[in-house]
Amino acid sequence: MSEYQHLLAPLDLGHVTLPNRVLMGSMHTGLEETGDWSRVARFYSDRAAGGAALIVTGGMAPNKEGGVFPGAAGLFSDQDIANHTRVTKAVHEAGGRIAMQILHAGRYAYGPECVAPSAVKSPISPFAPKELDEAGIEKQIADIATAAERARKAGYDGVEIMGSEGYFLNQFLVTHTNKREDRWGGSYENRMRLPIEVVKRARAAVGDDFIIIYRLSMIDLVPNGSTWEEVVMLAKEIEKAGASIINTGIGWHEARIPTIATSVPRKGWAWVTQKLMGEVSIPIITSNRINTPEVGEEIVSEGVADMVSMARPFLADADFVKKAATGRAREIAPCIACNQACLDHTFGGKLTSCLVNPRACHEIELEIEQANAPKSVAVVGAGPAGLSTAITAAERGHRVTLFDKANEIGGQLNMAKQIPGKEEFVGLVDWYKHMVHTKDVELRLGTEVSADDLVGFDEVIIATGVLPRDPEIPGQDGSNVVSYIDVLRNKAEVGQSVAIIGAGGIGFDVAEYLAHHGVSPTEDLALWKKEWGVSDPEADRGGLSPAGPMPEAPAREITLLQRKSEKLGRRLGKTTGWIHRASLQMKSVEMMGGVNYESIDDRGLMVSFGEARETPTLIEVDTVVLCAGQVPLRSLADDLGDLGVKAHVIGGADVASELDAKRAIDQGTRLAAAL
Ligand code: FAD
Ligand code: NAP
Ligand code: SF4
Repeated sequence: MSEYQHLLAPLDLGHVTLPNRVLMGSMHTGLEETGDWSRVARFYSDRAAGGAALIVTGGMAPNKEGGVFPGAAGLFSDQDIANHTRVTKAVHEAGGRIAMQILHAGRYAYGPECVAPSAVKSPISPFAPKELDEAGIEKQIADIATAAERARKAGYDGVEIMGSEGYFLNQFLVTHTNKREDRWGGSYENRMRLPIEVVKRARAAVGDDFIIIYRLSMIDLVPNGSTWEEVVMLAKEIEKAGASIINTGIGWHEARIPTIATSVPRKGWAWVTQKLMGEVSIPIITSNRINTPEVGEEIVSEGVADMVSMARPFLADADFVKKAATGRAREIAPCIACNQACLDHTFGGKLTSCLVNPRACHEIELEIEQANAPKSVAVVGAGPAGLSTAITAAERGHRVTLFDKANEIGGQLNMAKQIPGKEEFVGLVDWYKHMVHTKDVELRLGTEVSADDLVGFDEVIIATGVLPRDPEIPGQDGSNVVSYIDVLRNKAEVGQSVAIIGAGGIGFDVAEYLAHHGVSPTEDLALWKKEWGVSDPEADRGGLSPAGPMPEAPAREITLLQRKSEKLGRRLGKTTGWIHRASLQMKSVEMMGGVNYESIDDRGLMVSFGEARETPTLIEVDTVVLCAGQVPLRSLADDLGDLGVKAHVIGGADVASELDAKRAIDQGTRLAAAL
C-alpha cells in the first residue's frame, strides 16, 4: 500500500472520477503571451504525464477589460479556441485533465479600461477603475459565461472561476471596494449576488457534465474583509448555484501579510479551509505552502480538505505525483517557495521558470538527452552550480566525479538554510544529496582540488564559488569584527549591539538571523500568526487581528548599513523584498543608507555621510559584521589555464556580482545539457 494512500485515492465528482487528490493550481507563466502554443501544450502535457489529477491553467481573461494587463491571454473569441484546443488535446493524450481558469481582474487590471463595482482605486495599481452600470455588470456576467462555454468547446474538462485574491468577483463582496446602493451592493445578500449569478450562468452555459471550480476567498487579510459567517453563506450559495468544487483563496494581492513566501509555515493556511469542511457537500481544496507528498497526505488523511492544490511544486518537478506514487518521493525536486524564478519573473514581465528546475517553461528548448559519447567529467565545487552540473551530466550518461573541499555538499546553501524563514533550503540540500547518490555521481568530499588533480578528465568544470569582498575599512582586523561566514558557519560570538556593513541579500539575512532567538516562526504556526497579526476570521473580519503584528522582542539591537543612498532592500526579490523589509522593521532594525565607512575601533563603527564625508558619527556597537558582497574564487581555473587544461567556469567562480542560486543552477544545468 502506498505511503500516500489518502492523497492518491480517487475523487468521485459524479460525471467524472479524478485519479488522485492533487490539483495543479493556476499560475500565470507568460507562455501563452509568447504566441507559441506548442510551448504551452508541452508545459501542461508534461505535468499531466507526471500524474496531476487535474490541472488548472493560468488565468484567462473573459474580455479585454478583465485582462490582468493589456494583451493578457484570454478566450475572447472563437478564433482563440484553436490555440486552446492544442493544449487540451496534448493533455488528454498524456492521460490528464485540464480546467481553464477564468480570471477577471476588475480594479487589479493594469490598464485604463479597468472596471469594478465602484470607482475605488487599488493601492497596487495606478489606474482608477470605472464603476459599472447595470448593463456593464450584465456584460461581465455574460462574458464569463461565454468564456466557460468556449472553454468547453476547446476541450477543457472544466473551468475555475477566480473569485478570490481581491479580483473582480471578490471586489463585489466587501464594502471596502463595493460602495453601490443598487441590487449589487449594500447588504451581503446583494454583494454576493454577482459571484452567484456568474456561477449559475456558467453552469447553464456548460451543462452538467463539466467541472466548475469556484476559488473562494476564505480569509481576505484586508481591513473590512469578509466575516466567517459571510464566507460560509457564500460557499453554500456557490454550491447551490452549481459549482462542483470549492478551492481556497488566501488574502488579497494588496494584503500586507505573506501568503505563499518561503517564510510562511508549510500548510500554514490549511486551518482556514478546514473550518469550511462539513459546511458544503461538494469537495473542498486547500492550498498555499504545500510542497511535499507527506504534507499533502497529512491534510487529506486528517480531513483538513478533500484535495490539495499545489502550483509552484509543479514548476519544480512535473513528475511530483508519479514519483510519489512509485516510491520515489525523495527524487521530487522541492519547491523552496522562493518566488525567484516564478512570481518575480511574472511581475517583472519575464517568462516564468524555476530556481531548482530551469527546464520549467523551457521544456522544448532545454531537453536533457542521453549523451552520444559518454565522457569522464570532473566537477570542482558542490555548491548549486556544481551540483546541478553533476546530476544533469550523470543523468545524460556521463561518468561524473564531484569534488568539494568541505565535508558536506551544498556550498553557500548551507549558510542560507541557517536563516530563520529559509528552512526550505534544508530540503533542497537533502534532495541534491539524494540525487548525487541516485545518479551514481562519484562524490569526493574533504578534497581540496589542485590543477594537477584534474589532468586526464575529458571535461573539467570549475564551480568553486566565491570569496567575501574585502571592504578595506581601517580597523577591520579588530577582534570585534567578523564576517557573515564567521557568524553563519563558525558561529562566532556576536554581542548585543551589532552594525552590519552591507545591505544586500546576505546583509538582510544576517540581520534576520541575529534579530531572532529561539524557535523560528516558520516552524511554529501560532508564533508566525502572532508575529504577522493573523487571527481567526470567525473572530475578526478578514482574519486581521485588531492588535496588529506582535513580533517577539528582537534578540539584539541591529543597525544595517549601505553606502548607496537608495532605500535599503530596494533590490531584493520583487515579490518578497517587502517581506524582508517589514520583518526587519518589526524587529526594530535601524536602516542607514548613504554612509561612508571611516573606521572601526573597540567602541564601534565610525561613519560619515555624503561625498563631502560630513557629520562623522560613531555607531557604538559590540560587534561589526562584514557583508560587503563577494568576488569570484577562480584561482583553480587560472592554474588550469597555466597547465593548458581547458575548463568551463560557472556560478560564482565565473561572475560573482548579482549571483544567486537561480543563476548558478541555470548555468550548471545548461552546461551539462550541452556537454
Ligand atoms: P558556492 O555555493 O559558493 O559553492 C562553491 C563550492 O566550491 C563550495 O562548497 C566550496 O567548498 C567548493 N570549493 C571551492 N574551492 C574548492 C577547491 N579548490 N576544491 C574543492 N572544492 C572547492 N541565493 C538565492 O538564490 N536565494 C537565496 O535565498 C539565497 N540566500 C542566501 C543566503 C546566504 C546567507 C548566503 C551566504 C547565500 C545565499 N544565496 C542565495 C546565494 C547562493 O547560495 C549562491 O549564489 C550560490 O550558492 C552560489 O553557487 P556556487 O555553486 O557558484 O558557489
Ligand atoms: P550584494 O547583494 O551584492 O550586496 C553587497 C552589499 O555590500 C551591498 O549592500 C553593497 O552596498 C555593499 N558593498 C559592496 N561593496 C562594498 C565595499 N567595498 N565596502 C563596503 N560595502 C560594500 O551581495 P551579498 O549580500 O553578499 O549577496 C551575495 C549574493 O547572494 C547576491 O547576489 C544575492 O543575490 C544572493 N542572495 C540572495 C538572497 C535572496 O533572498 N534572493 C539572499 C541572500 C543572498 P553599497 O555598495 O551601497 O555599500
Ligand atoms: Fe518554487 Fe522558487 Fe521554483 Fe518558484 S522559483 S517554483 S518558488 S522553487
